Amino acid sequence: MLLVHKYGGTSVGDLERIENVASRIMKASDAGNNIVVVVSAMSGETNKLIDYATHFTTTPAKQEMDMLLSSGERVTAALLAIALQAKGYKAVAMTGRQAGIVTDSVHTYARIKSIDPKAMLDAINDGKIVIVAGFQGINEDGNVTTLGRGGSDLSAVAIAGAINADACEIYSDVDGIYTTDPRIEPKAKKLNTISYDEMLEMASLGAKVLQNRSVELAKKLDVKLYAKSSFSDNEGTLITKESANMEEVLVSGVVLDKNQARVTLRNVSDRPGIAAEIFTKLAEMGINVDMITQNVGIDGSTNLGFTIPQSELDNAKSVIESFDHDIGSMDFDKNLCKVSVVGVGMKSHAGVAAKAFRTLAASNINIQMISTSEIKISVIIDEKYGELAIRILHDAYELDK
Ligand code: ADP
Ligand code: ASP
Ligand code: MG
Repeated sequence: MLLVHKYGGTSVGDLERIENVASRIMKASDAGNNIVVVVSAMSGETNKLIDYATHFTTTPAKQEMDMLLSSGERVTAALLAIALQAKGYKAVAMTGRQAGIVTDSVHTYARIKSIDPKAMLDAINDGKIVIVAGFQGINEDGNVTTLGRGGSDLSAVAIAGAINADACEIYSDVDGIYTTDPRIEPKAKKLNTISYDEMLEMASLGAKVLQNRSVELAKKLDVKLYAKSSFSDNEGTLITKESANMEEVLVSGVVLDKNQARVTLRNVSDRPGIAAEIFTKLAEMGINVDMITQNVGIDGSTNLGFTIPQSELDNAKSVIESFDHDIGSMDFDKNLCKVSVVGVGMKSHAGVAAKAFRTLAASNINIQMISTSEIKISVIIDEKYGELAIRILHDAYELDK
């Protein structure tokens, strides 16, 4: 079989773990598989590099950030190839560029435009194990780009699509997708399968076990995607198309996202086009706006609130400051989190949201913002109640059963 294996930061966190990954790959290779391996930087490495940059400024140029951040993955790719070669296996390490990955020019959040798999396939035909540095590509001008946090998952899925792999296996420190983060709720249950759509919601809502764009792409390209552990041989979770029996399950998981900040704009000119201008500028800065609320205007002005990732707060401030004529004042709140309930079964059941609200009310947790879709309910609450909310909702929907 032709397989893509992706090993995340904890799996390659030190030299011993890289050796462990090398042994797993050797086993898969000995079993007759051809393998392209995608690796993350060692755990903590990307954050360390970000800290280095923010020593100088809180808004470093994104092109240079990509130059900096892409280095972490190159280190592990090279080390893993060296480890395999030391065991007598043929292996070659490639950067994103060498692997033929071309992206757009949105630095630190680039989208993959195309992959020319020739170099990877030539190496495989040469009997080599191919090790690709994840999370990166180049734009059409040849500058290095990165794919957003957790982006090695996206590299892996995109490569699996480009080489038409039989499966893409994402290895981390958990042996699959659980009903919630098992670090928060030890009673969380592992799911044998989950639909692309539910997984996409969970990932987009902050379950970092898979990067959301990787799930979106897996669905689009019909890539057979597994989440597995690099520390055990347990069967993982298959992420796949929705099937009839999945809909019988009302709720498949609950998700906590602590990386939330709210921006509140007061006395905003209540005129056509103002929201378009503000949100276009935020989008041009690559800032992902999540929930938005706008009050009914009074006397030509209104209040506008929205949530963004905490890491984008400084960038958002600089965008908002450029609107000084149209915005009276702005406030920021970082002590929040988002809690979400996800399940395809919600499409056909009433009362799922009401149950979540009742459950939170019973523990005296105040809801500050709400957003819903066909298959999810999200609420913004005080950060200090986030983990409690996950546990009581997990209980309320009997996810441990
Ligand atoms: P890697 O560094 O290998 O990419 P991540 O840290 O990104 O791994 O993802 C694995 C982590 O995801 C787990 O340690 C776990 O705490 C967290 N996680 C969050 N939600 C879930 C979930 N629903 N199921 C499994 N793991 C989850
Ligand atoms: N190293 C990058 C990050 O920490 C990409 C990844 O691990 O997937 O976000
Ligand atoms: Mg990850």
